[in-house]
Amino acid sequence: MSEWNVKLIEKIERTKDTKSFRFERPENFTYLPGQFTTFYIPKEGNGELFHHFSFSSSPTEPFIEFTTRIRESEYKQRLDQLSLGTTIRISTILGKFSLTKKINKVVFICAGIGITAARSNIKWVIDTQTNIDIILLYGNRDLNNIAFKNELEAIKQNNFKLFHILSHPTEDWKGWKGRINEHFILYSVPDWEERRWFISGPPAMVDMVEKILTEDICVPMEIIREEFYIGY
Ligand SMILES: Cc1cc2nc3c(=O)[nH]c(=O)nc-3n(C[C@H](O)[C@H](O)[C@H](O)COP(=O)(O)OP(=O)(O)OC[C@H]3O[C@@H](n4cnc5c(N)ncnc54)[C@H](O)[C@@H]3O)c2cc1C
Repeated sequence: MSEWNVKLIEKIERTKDTKSFRFERPENFTYLPGQFTTFYIPKEGNGELFHHFSFSSSPTEPFIEFTTRIRESEYKQRLDQLSLGTTIRISTILGKFSLTKKINKVVFICAGIGITAARSNIKWVIDTQTNIDIILLYGNRDLNNIAFKNELEAIKQNNFKLFHILSHPTEDWKGWKGRINEHFILYSVPDWEERRWFISGPPAMVDMVEKILTEDICVPMEIIREEFYIGY
């Protein structure tokens, strides 16, 4: 098993309760976009706590980063308290949620924190100028709960389209409302038959989207990749 010690260099507030934790990238540290690893942090007293997180950073960036919602759990509370300069341990890099140059057209479907692995891939495509046409379908509670909103909306490339859907929008919201559903997917992805599909987020959400794609739209399972954020 590989292991690295990485130093916390920045905490970035993404929404009111969502933060990115950025670490120095060890020399010769390689990973693929959308992969994940285990982040071990010191427990109060002795021992360690660990959680798996997808990288929200892209391998093209000089740091490594993950992003999470700060909740009441022991892990999240300890994580939030870590001071800059603290060194933590990470282990083997895993996961197959990565675009490759062989893919021409793709749809990412994410809700909430599921954006992390998609953001890693999208940033990789932009930085490497890989010619992949991307549609991102992104579900959130409301406009204030959208992590990476400004960054994603600032992407000007013709081959990137972003569609938001909000479950609890304010009254003035003119876009899609509700949860990710068949109608929203078919409207936003008219060329759905030509695309590969990447779904990431809490297991219940990934299962729900898989069901819509395979049972209602008849997308073959072989062209769907999934990352289940087990424990979320
Ligand atoms: C491949 C992968 C990628 C992930 N990427 C992200 C990410 O980018 N951002 C993010 O915020 N989270 C991610 N997660 C989830 C993350 O590891 C945490 O489980 C999650 O953030 C909840 O942590 P918590 O401390 O708030 O809840 P906890 O208090 O740890 O857990 C909440 C509930 O889930 C149960 N649970 C916890 N872990 C597991 C497990 N491994 N299997 C089954 N049940 C479990 C607990 O028993 C509890 O009931 C990922 C998980 C996986 C497997």
